Amino acid sequence: MAIRNIVLDGDEILRKKAREVENVKEEKIQILIDDMIETLHSANGVGLAAQQVGILKRIVVIDIYDGNEPIVLINPVIIKTKGEREVEEGCLSFPDQFGKVIRPKEVEVEALDREGRKIRIKAKELLAQAICHELDHLEGRLFIDLVIPGTLQTVSPETTNKKGE
Ligand code: ZN
Repeated sequence: MAIRNIVLDGDEILRKKAREVENVKEEKIQILIDDMIETLHSANGVGLAAQQVGILKRIVVIDIYDGNEPIVLINPVIIKTKGEREVEEGCLSFPDQFGKVIRPKEVEVEALDREGRKIRIKAKELLAQAICHELDHLEGRLFIDLVIPGTLQTVSPETTNKKGE
């Protein structure tokens, strides 16, 4: 496994639409998934989309640190959402920006897992938020597009120690 560089704000790949994965079992896809999980953990992140490591494939990894294995979603599609809530959100590609957005309280998503099996996940709260955030990345949509006006904050690196803790 290897830690990959996270693409930052301003890179045009973040605005592109990712392509479906055709063969989940392909070695380079499996390596990419392992690397994405390692990169996510090394950045203390909750979610990472393949675009954020420079690959235009519909793959996201999510870990809400609830004791379960990281979730890998390939070619994911949201099939249901319920409710809404206002949440604080950030992004590994915008390391010093945070803002408030509206996200569904609950979502149901269909995807393939890393073995190529079809899975369906019902998620709420933080997991639902992370799924929505990461699936937006696959469409080239970023949290700053959704931010409630006036809530975007820039935190200087000296005053945040969110990373490296
Ligand atoms: Zn993000």
